[in-house]
Parts: sequence; C-alpha cells; structure tokens
Amino acid sequence: MADRRIPLIAGNWKMNGLNAALVEIDKLAGLLGAGERPDCAVAICPPATLLSALSARAGATGILTGGQDCHPKASGAHTGDISAVMLADAGATYVIVGHSERRTDHHEDDALVRSKALAALGAGLTPIICVGEARAEREAGRAIEVVTSQLLGSVPDEAGTNEVVIAYEPVWAIGTGLTPTIADVEAMHASIRSQLADRFGAAGKTIRILYGGSMKPANAKEILAVANVDGGLVGGASLLANDFYGIISAV
Ligand code: PEP
Repeated sequence: MADRRIPLIAGNWKMNGLNAALVEIDKLAGLLGAGERPDCAVAICPPATLLSALSARAGATGILTGGQDCHPKASGAHTGDISAVMLADAGATYVIVGHSERRTDHHEDDALVRSKALAALGAGLTPIICVGEARAEREAGRAIEVVTSQLLGSVPDEAGTNEVVIAYEPVWAIGTGLTPTIADVEAMHASIRSQLADRFGAAGKTIRILYGGSMKPANAKEILAVANVDGGLVGGASLLANDFYGIISAV
C-alpha cells in the first residue's frame, strides 16, 4: 500500500525521571523482545538530563529516543536552552515541539514552534509537532478551526520534503483521564489528513498523525484503530514499561 504509515508510539516523560528510571528501558526492551514485536516504531522522550544515558542504554534494542523541546538556534547565548543539534548529538531521533505545556508555560506561538521544527530538520531530527484545542474552544465548536490554524502556522513548508510527525493532543485530555469520543478523534484526524494532503500532495499522505491525551492500555486499541491515527504520544502511561508496552502491543 503506497500510503502505508508505520505507526509510532512515543512516550513523553515530561519532567519525570531520575537515573533510577533508566531501568524502565531494560524492562521495555525485555517485553518487546519476549513476544512477537508489534509492527510499529517505539520512542521515548526523557528529560534532557537522561537523553544520552537512555540512548546508550536503548542501543540495539530498536527503541528510539527524542527530546521534549529544542531552541530554534544551533548554539549561542541562551541559558537553560538546548538545541536540536545537541539532542541529535545525545542520540535523539525525534524532538517534540509545540507541546501544549510549552505553549502555555512558555508562551510559545505557532511561529516559534515552526522555527523549532525547522531547527530539528536541520539537525537531522524528526520533529513531532503538537497541536490541539483547549476545552473552551471545543465547547464553542471551534476545535477544527483552532487546529487548522495551528497546523498552518506550526508546520513548515519543508514538511513536504522531510519527515515530520503531527501529534493531535486536545489540551483538555492531557493528564486528565478524559478523551474525545472516537467520532471526534476520527473527524479531527480526517481534517488534519485532508489539510496535509491539500498542502503537501502525496507527501501529505505519508505524514504520521499521532493521537495524544490520556491514552492508556485500556483505551489504546480503540483509538489506534481509528482511520488516520498513526500511533500515539503518551505521557503518564509511558513512565512504566508495563503500561507503555500495553499501549504498544495494542497497535
Ligand atoms: C502528553 O503530555 O503528551 C500526554 C499525552 O500526556 P498524557 O498521556 O499523560 O495525557
């Protein structure tokens, strides 16, 4: 199938995890190695402090790693920031950009997210570009309008010729245990797909669109079966290998 997209299950550890948490990668590798390996890519985006160690530990297991954010520039006087080049140097394959927690906590707008995605591509990383509406926007019937505007502003034109991943994460579903209805997930992912196809032609049909927001082993199968859901971006349930594997094995 020309448009076959290999699903991606990516874990976002957020600001969680000390060195002791590195054993979770060994446990996950053990679980993945024990049975038939699901036909999907698996990645973990730990805090930057653990990225090198986790990448080294993942080694040949096939588990990929990513950063949670990057600066638009490659280097310079930006205290506390980290560049895409540095993440790549630490072993990352992916970097999350535009997560709603960055958009809220650090006032990141679409233009900044786009420049971070471009920096990621320049460093040879695949950006996971997050979009998603707030609860009030969904209740006002504006979810698709809001996400359409975020996509236009956050996804660079270079996505037509480079690998990028989109993550649809309704803000009100993140960390709350709430999820949209399956019909709403389907409608949003169909809308995102049609915008990507309109903008990037055939390339737009190859871009993976992840769902994120309270994905758990118990609901993963139903969500991952929805058309145009090409995997998940998983927060809380990625912290423990058993939970994360429960989602991976639902692919
Ligand atoms: C996230 O923060 O990207 C996320 C999806 O979190 P959770 O799975 O905990 O809702």
